[in-house]
Amino acid sequence: MIRYTLKCDKEHSFDSWFASAAAYEALQARGMVSCTICGSTTVDKALMAPAVRPARKAAAAAAPEARAGAGAEAPLSAPQTGIEEAFAAMRQAVEANSDYVGVNFVAEARAMHEGAMPERAIHGEARLDEAKALLDDGIPVMPLPFLPKRSRN
Ligand SMILES: [Zn+2]
Repeated sequence: MIRYTLKCDKEHSFDSWFASAAAYEALQARGMVSCTICGSTTVDKALMAPAVRPARKAAAAAAPEARAGAGAEAPLSAPQTGIEEAFAAMRQAVEANSDYVGVNFVAEARAMHEGAMPERAIHGEARLDEAKALLDDGIPVMPLPFLPKRSRN
């Protein structure tokens, strides 16, 4: 798994986890990576030190910062269908094994941690700062590489 800090066209910054750099590229190229705050699919990696090991040392040595925008050209290490199947399976597993609690996620996660309600697996939505606060308090949360099902509009 690899974590990217992403930024949408409205300057929202958020973290997302992907199976691999190639998985991110494939999803991003298809507009399947969306802002966790506004839902915009115009997202890109926020400028930061690259955390990805290049396949070839020569490529790393020659990599100028300007390459950041050219990531979509990178060859995929796995077929896109395989990536989609993996994400679909992950989504099914999450949706089958945990309750969707929407924007109540933070409150419910905290209540379970404090013993105010029985523990169960949940998924929902949280702002980046809220998710970070949960982690700071030792509450195990993980960003999902997809948006939960919810009503559109
Ligand atoms: Zn946004």
